[in-house]
Amino acid sequence: MSGRQEKEKGVNVQVLLRCRPFSDDELRSNAPQVVTCNDYQREVAVSQNIAGKHIDRVFTFDKVFGPSAQQRDLYDQAVVPIVNEVLEGFNCTIFAYGQTGTGKTYTMEGECKRAKSGLNGELPQEAGVIPRAVKQIFDTLEGQNAEYSVKVTFLELYNEEITDLLAPEEISKVAFEEKQKKPLPLMEDGKGGVLVRGLEEEIVTSASEIFTLLERGSSKRRTAETLLNKQSSRSHSLFSITIHIKEPTPEGEELIKCGKLNLVDLAGSENISRSGAREGRAREAGEINKSLLTLGRVISALVEHLGHIPYRDSKLTRLLRDSLGGRTKTCIIATVSPAVHCLEETLSTLDYAHRAKHIKNKPEVNQKMMKSTLLKDLQGEIDRLKAEVYAAREKNGVYIPKERYYQEESERKEMADQIEQMGLTIETHEKQLEELQEKYDVQVRHCSDLSTKLAHTERNLLETSRLLANTEEELKKLRIENALSQQACALRSDLEKALKDNASLFDKIGREDQLHSENRSVVNSFQSELSQQIGCLRSIVANSMSQQDEHLQCVGKLCHSFMQTHDKAVKKMKKKLTNTRTVYASHIEALQNVVRLHKSNSIAGLDEMSTLASSNAQSIEDYLASEGVQAAAVFDDLRNALSAHQGEMAIFARELRQRFNSSSEQTKQISDYTDGFLCKLMDQSQTIQNHVMGVDNIQMNSIADFQKAYEEQCKSEADKLVADISNLLSNHILRQKELVNTRLDVLREAAVENRTFMDGQVSSLENITTEAKRKWKEFCVQAGSEAKDGADYSAAKHCRMEILLQQSVTNAESAFQHCKKTRDSVNEMCTEHVSSLCTLVRDATENIEQHDAEIDSARTAAEQDVATNSQDILQHIDGMSAQERESVSGIVTTVEAHTKTLETFREDHSGQAAVMENKSQETFQQRFMDYDPTGTTPMRTEPEVPSKGTIESLRAMPMEALVEEFRENNSYDSFEVKELKPSLIPRPPLAQLN
Ligand code: ADP
Ligand code: MG
Repeated sequence: MSGRQEKEKGVNVQVLLRCRPFSDDELRSNAPQVVTCNDYQREVAVSQNIAGKHIDRVFTFDKVFGPSAQQRDLYDQAVVPIVNEVLEGFNCTIFAYGQTGTGKTYTMEGECKRAKSGLNGELPQEAGVIPRAVKQIFDTLEGQNAEYSVKVTFLELYNEEITDLLAPEEISKVAFEEKQKKPLPLMEDGKGGVLVRGLEEEIVTSASEIFTLLERGSSKRRTAETLLNKQSSRSHSLFSITIHIKEPTPEGEELIKCGKLNLVDLAGSENISRSGAREGRAREAGEINKSLLTLGRVISALVEHLGHIPYRDSKLTRLLRDSLGGRTKTCIIATVSPAVHCLEETLSTLDYAHRAKHIKNKPEVNQKMMKSTLLKDLQGEIDRLKAEVYAAREKNGVYIPKERYYQEESERKEMADQIEQMGLTIETHEKQLEELQEKYDVQVRHCSDLSTKLAHTERNLLETSRLLANTEEELKKLRIENALSQQACALRSDLEKALKDNASLFDKIGREDQLHSENRSVVNSFQSELSQQIGCLRSIVANSMSQQDEHLQCVGKLCHSFMQTHDKAVKKMKKKLTNTRTVYASHIEALQNVVRLHKSNSIAGLDEMSTLASSNAQSIEDYLASEGVQAAAVFDDLRNALSAHQGEMAIFARELRQRFNSSSEQTKQISDYTDGFLCKLMDQSQTIQNHVMGVDNIQMNSIADFQKAYEEQCKSEADKLVADISNLLSNHILRQKELVNTRLDVLREAAVENRTFMDGQVSSLENITTEAKRKWKEFCVQAGSEAKDGADYSAAKHCRMEILLQQSVTNAESAFQHCKKTRDSVNEMCTEHVSSLCTLVRDATENIEQHDAEIDSARTAAEQDVATNSQDILQHIDGMSAQERESVSGIVTTVEAHTKTLETFREDHSGQAAVMENKSQETFQQRFMDYDPTGTTPMRTEPEVPSKGTIESLRAMPMEALVEEFRENNSYDSFEVKELKPSLIPRPPLAQLN
């Protein structure tokens, strides 16, 4: 029912505003903020400087989200109810409108495509409206345990061409590019809506799939971006979610509820102003953004209630026709930047959004479909697609030349446009006709109303004129009667008035009589009360007189007793004073004794102090002297010990030096010896070498000699035996010779070897010796230098030791001197102390003497003072008692005078009281007079007055009869005054009554 109301009234497009936070760049450049959002009051303020003046412009929206608002806040507050309505079967659309870079895509899609959803299905914080809506839809449907299907489409509109962002990727690159370029046609669906032919509808089965889809679409958009020069800021993207939910009915038939949510990320709004500013050129440049421009015009037309809404001028408005002034619920999210450099665009966005608030839609729930109908529709669709597939596969469809196809297609398009245009014209005409018909009906109704009214009025008129004639006649008669009866009435009212006056006068007389008698009794009672009170007064006065007498007597007595006690007190005081004086004198005497005692004590103490001080000083002096002697002895010991140390030190140093010298001497000897030894060793090796050489020579020679001798012997023997055994022997000799030669060679080689070995040995011995010598020399040098260092070091140490010793000696000396000085100063201090103490004691004794003298003088002065003071006090007391006696006698005389006065007062008072009593008696009983009745006052009567009814009845009688009757009853002479009733006689009120 509320839906019906909504339908009739229409609901406004909901407009939200979102202001993004400063970007890092803006923060770095410290860009000033010009937009302030008040989320609670739903206001946005923009500060501007116009001609040096600071002006704030404030806009109010349905909801405002400031820079701190999170994706979730926006979704929960603004989108959740919209999605719920989609689930109830409404179609809803959400637009994101604003300058490029203000967060349209961020709001719609968010920045989480690659992050994907969390493990437990939680969405990332940055997720935008699309993923959140899909999640909500799935959560709700799952929660309801419903049977449902969710389909999404995602398309991009750029330069009036529609591209499918969810189209499957073609395998070959060529085909892909072709597909990229191929725009999809927009067609009427025959039910008043439009559909995009060939748009991929993706069935989604879980919320998490949405990320894959978004990523797919966005990646396609990104690819296009590089190809088409920053397309994204100039293109619109439309993401639609269609939901079908199965609802069982009690009749067992299954109904399908259908809802659709469109989420539109519009092109950057700056394109509007840019293309608007130089529209002519923009159109030449290829319709920079016709759709955005048309959207603006459509909004203007809707807001201003123009007859013609230019939906058909762009594809975007055709696609979203239903969302603008149609049956869809619509929400616009306007996005702005807070920074100053976007101010112009921000203001234009705010104006635009504010204007869009006035668009009214008439949302309607989509009609639920029977499941069977839906199935039939789907089956038809399937059949159509099947036929297409079949035709494509079998290539047996209709084939026409490309040019003709394009021509026909364009003609068809034109015709469709024309038809649409005509449809639109018809629509407007129909609307106008309807309006006219309505107006005509109203007029006809008005007319018939008027004619009935006319007939009624005529009837009324006739009747009224008839009545008027009758009335006129009657009026004539009545006028006469009226004159008479008016007269009678006037008379009657006069009579009534007179009677009323009379009665009130009698009342007044009665009241006055009563008042008089009351007055009389009051006066009587007053008189008796007065005499009674006078009596009372008399007795009170007498009482007070006697009391006063008593008081006066008391006062006299008191005065007397006061005087007696006073005298006694004075006597006592005087006595006390003399006593005090004597006591005081004795106290002073005691004080003086005490002072004397103290004085002698102090003097004795002081004497003792001075003797003690001098003895102390003496003992200190003695002590210091003995200590000084001891210290000197200690110092002497120390000095002796130090000099002994010094001597020993010197001896030790000398010994050390001697020992050192001897040790270095020994070292030198050893060194020399070793040197000699080494030289000898060298010589020996030389001799061995020579010997070896000799032996070698000898050996060589002997070998050579032996060889020679043997050869000669062999020759001679050979010569001898040549003959005999020449052949035999020559062989044998040859063999022998060979043998000997080899032997000799061996021997020679051995000798040579021997010699080389001996040579090697000797040379190595020589090397060792020279090395040893060099080492030894080094060692000697080092030892010598070390010995020298040692000697130097010990000598330096000795010197240092000596210096230290010397220092100790001087220290000891200075300590001794210091000690001596201290002793002397202590001695001096002691003597000073003693002398100052003596002077102090002397001063103190003198002071005591002075004090004594002062105390004496003070005492005599005090005694004198006391004597004079007591004399003064006695005199003062005497003077005071004399004064008091005088005052008391004054009091007594005053009391007597008062008694006399009282006596005269008493006499006066009784006289006055008697006079008052007499006077009152006279006044109330003789002067105050009562009224005497004269008996002439008329009595009170109640005459009868004819009523109005009687007069009216008289009117009903015929005039003549009346006159006759009146004349019979009243002859002219009966109208005399004397026969009138007394109450009817006119009389001035009150004049003659009393
Ligand atoms: P548009 O689609 O309007 O051109 P984008 O959505 O691309 O703008 O946003 C531009 C930049 O600003 C993005 O980097 C985005 O992350 C950031 N941005 C926009 N709005 C917000 C916001 N509310 N919170 C945080 N960052 C935002
Ligand atoms: Mg964007």
